[in-house]
Amino acid sequence: MIDQLIQYAYLIGAVLLILGMRDLGSPKTAVRGNIIASVGMLVLVVGTLFLHGVVDFPVILAGVVVGSAVGVFLAQRIEMTAMPQMVALLNGFGGGASTLVASAELLSYERAGTLPEGIVSYAIVAGALIGGVTFTGSLIAFAKLQELMKGAAIAYPLQKTSNALIGLVVLGLCAAVVIDPHALLLYAVLVAASLILGVLLVIPIGGADMPVVISLLNSYSGLAACATGFVLGNSALVIGGSLVGASGLILTKIMCDAMNRSLTNVLFGAFGAVTESATAAGPQGTAKGYTPEDAAVIFGNARSVIIVPGYGMAVAQAQHAVRELADTLGASGIQVKFAIHPVAGRMPGHMNVLLAEADVPYDQLVEMDEINPEFPETDVALVLGANDVVNPMARTEKSSPIYGMPILDVDRATHVFVIKRSMNPGFAGVQNPLFFNDNTMMIFGDAKKVVLQIIEAIRDLES
Ligand code: NAP
Repeated sequence: MIDQLIQYAYLIGAVLLILGMRDLGSPKTAVRGNIIASVGMLVLVVGTLFLHGVVDFPVILAGVVVGSAVGVFLAQRIEMTAMPQMVALLNGFGGGASTLVASAELLSYERAGTLPEGIVSYAIVAGALIGGVTFTGSLIAFAKLQELMKGAAIAYPLQKTSNALIGLVVLGLCAAVVIDPHALLLYAVLVAASLILGVLLVIPIGGADMPVVISLLNSYSGLAACATGFVLGNSALVIGGSLVGASGLILTKIMCDAMNRSLTNVLFGAFGAVTESATAAGPQGTAKGYTPEDAAVIFGNARSVIIVPGYGMAVAQAQHAVRELADTLGASGIQVKFAIHPVAGRMPGHMNVLLAEADVPYDQLVEMDEINPEFPETDVALVLGANDVVNPMARTEKSSPIYGMPILDVDRATHVFVIKRSMNPGFAGVQNPLFFNDNTMMIFGDAKKVVLQIIEAIRDLES
């Protein structure tokens, strides 16, 4: 009876997870989706607590207390801009947990003097391998993004060959353990080799590719959890793990497409290493500095404005100020839209989240493909802390590391204002020729401060 109720709970929980994920697909329904998915997870956890023989309540309670304390602490302390690192850490913990569960299960079979049957031995090996790679790979990704180690790609001679050889050795170890699950020493070597492989696979990746890798590692952590589900015979873990695995892969593909890169190129292209040489060879010229008062005058004569937010808006926390600017311009009869590039900022949906926080109406947010044809008819494009996503070199310069990345065509607007603090390049490390164009006016300063000054200047002009 209890077992049947648990299976029903798993079914309900899984349906809620899927419904929640569907709602997460749009900013309008994302909050509801988050709540639905959280309730689904709660149903799954409560269902699991009733599993016969698995439950040790004091240990579980201790886990809940420690885990919740760490979770609350991290959620409150972590800046929005540091979210990718946090996701990397969480992926890593998920992978590490899968390896530990797989190892504990193998040991318990050994202690009981029995053998894992059928798919279970494959699942133990898969959990150990994918979990191990995810654990150390995610820790390296975290260290790179947190600048605890060099963020660029680390390359050395015969890197791909040696990685391929280690990969083959690991596969051989997997086969050996599946054939003889009593071979605990081989299993220990397999876990150690997987941990090493995680490090080796992530160090050659750097620069703008890191968030893609994190999304891929997220997918791996789901696959590892799925394998653990087969090890434990737990359908909730199998379903939850598959959902994470599949959605992580889809997100990885979306990000690769948005940067016009193939996954192979991201994983084996040593992107950061290319970037450094390209920086020195970047375009040079004279950028013209303007003031917020100049911007107010141009806005006074404009009928249409497209605001292009980027990572700098997130750093400056300028989203509320920019909403105020949009409202001020709108009140003067100017049509205002926000152009959203799929990889603006440092994580997918970064700009949507910030602008939603500032209550910018969703219908003002326009995706790249839809807004690009509008730039030639637009009076002013206001680039707010964006750089790579508006770099026209991506269209023409074959040697540039961002060549082929779809960009927002701001240079085709009549006037372009760029607000940033200096001439420093963006995330990809390449200089942006947009800043030297005749129709580009630079306003140097912190995005929030400059936007507030523009609003003040517009009000002064109006009064
Ligand atoms: P970006 O190329 O990183 O440029 C951001 C600009 O903001 C910088 O040039 C910086 O210039 C400026 N800035 C920083 N702090 C500022 C402040 N307080 N006030 C004003 N300006 C400030 O950003 P992006 O155009 O949004 O492009 C995102 C990059 O991340 C792309 O290369 C993309 O491929 C990569 N990426 C994103 C994702 C994702 O999911 N979103 C995933 C993978 C990779 P100053 O220092 O001169 O101010």
